[in-house]
Amino acid sequence: MFEKLSERLNGVLDKLTKRGQLGEADVDEALREVRVALLEADVALPVVKDFVAAVRAEAVGERVVKSVTPGQMVIKIVHDELVKVLKPANDAGGVAGAGLDLNHPAPVPILMLGLQGSGKTTSTAKIARRLAEKQGKKVLMASLDTRRPAAQQQLAILGEQTGIKTLPIVPGEPPVAIAKRAMNAGRLEGYDVVMLDTAGRLAIDDELMAELAQVRDAVKPHESLLVADAMTGQDAVNTAKHFQDKIGITGIMLTRIDGDARGGAALSMRAVTGRPIKLLGTGEKLDQLEDFHADRVAGRILGMGDIVSLVEKAMEATEQEEAEKLARKMQKGQFDLNDMAQQLKQLQKMGGLGGIMGMLPGIGKMQKQLEGRMDEKVVGRTLAIINSMTPKERRLPDIIKASRKTRIARGAGVQVQDVNKLLKQHQEMARMMKQVSKLGQKGLMRHGLS
Ligand code: GDP
Repeated sequence: MFEKLSERLNGVLDKLTKRGQLGEADVDEALREVRVALLEADVALPVVKDFVAAVRAEAVGERVVKSVTPGQMVIKIVHDELVKVLKPANDAGGVAGAGLDLNHPAPVPILMLGLQGSGKTTSTAKIARRLAEKQGKKVLMASLDTRRPAAQQQLAILGEQTGIKTLPIVPGEPPVAIAKRAMNAGRLEGYDVVMLDTAGRLAIDDELMAELAQVRDAVKPHESLLVADAMTGQDAVNTAKHFQDKIGITGIMLTRIDGDARGGAALSMRAVTGRPIKLLGTGEKLDQLEDFHADRVAGRILGMGDIVSLVEKAMEATEQEEAEKLARKMQKGQFDLNDMAQQLKQLQKMGGLGGIMGMLPGIGKMQKQLEGRMDEKVVGRTLAIINSMTPKERRLPDIIKASRKTRIARGAGVQVQDVNKLLKQHQEMARMMKQVSKLGQKGLMRHGLS
């Protein structure tokens, strides 16, 4: 399945000669393989279509970095797109955003939802145990499954095994009443978290959905976690969509990924519900619980983490080369508008000034000032102005006089004073560059660059 995807891609693409750039025909040939592999791995068709279109848009025209093959380049692009699709929207760095959100006055109500047999009760105990052991939370668990005779006892037994308190069982009590009693006990007895393990069915049914909606309205859960069995593939995707439509979920816990699970379910569920995969169940034991990491799962799907890092390194090296070329030009005082455009593009790629500055410690205040002056829009407009110049104008900005300025402004859809401002900025930058390069000359010479 997925493991073979990267092999297939290599097979197709490495026969192609390196042309420096990924052409449409190359990319389409590769994407045929991607499409088949994703479908075989149980990814839903609409999701596959969107995904392939996104990869195509990224890949066509992309420069193939020296020292890697076109196949490796496409794999990197597919990998990055997988990460993008799998990652929660608020997840900046990979760790933040994974796991549960407990930012709510205690006791935090957490609703566990899912079909019977999905691993809901086991997962409830796993999560409770981790919250207690790793985060020192006082957790209460309650089973709302009044249908299946042994369900409430099953949770009580898991409670005993893990040392997590469970709500005492009152025979005949309906689910909503149990939920309210659990929340009351949580408040009165000072619990941090109340986990409600709801009833499941073998398949979606309206009666169950009505019951769950009542429970939801009674406790207003802060997290509603859908527990889904990764082994059930496309069925799990339909279930997720149904739960999202009828009850509303905040995230997904995928169980049984220790089996012969196909990554496809994860990709589809994420895309179809718009909700993140938060946790993974990796076995029957109560400590077999993992946070979901988009990059790791994408790597697992492609089965080729090493290629991704190889391409990343090669890209860094190319950027380094360009930086060195620029340094040489700077020394000679040859910083022209092409160089300025290149710098701005680099800036955009790295997430704007805010992105770069955010990586440097202790620079928060300066960052705000700079952001105000040079946000993304300004960068985009500046690039548009440079783009409407002729190559000669870019090389020799001094020739840009009144009539040329009017033409350039019209081409970029800006005012003449914007063109003036840009030219002045360029002059300032060029002067600064010269100074910097003078200061750095000794250092550069030592590196054999002058
Ligand atoms: P529920 O009906 O949804 O509450 O499901 P249970 O929690 O009773 O789990 C059903 C079965 O799946 C049990 O035998 C669990 O031990 C098993 N199970 C749950 N999670 C996992 C998992 O992540 N991996 C594996 N291999 N088994 C799991």
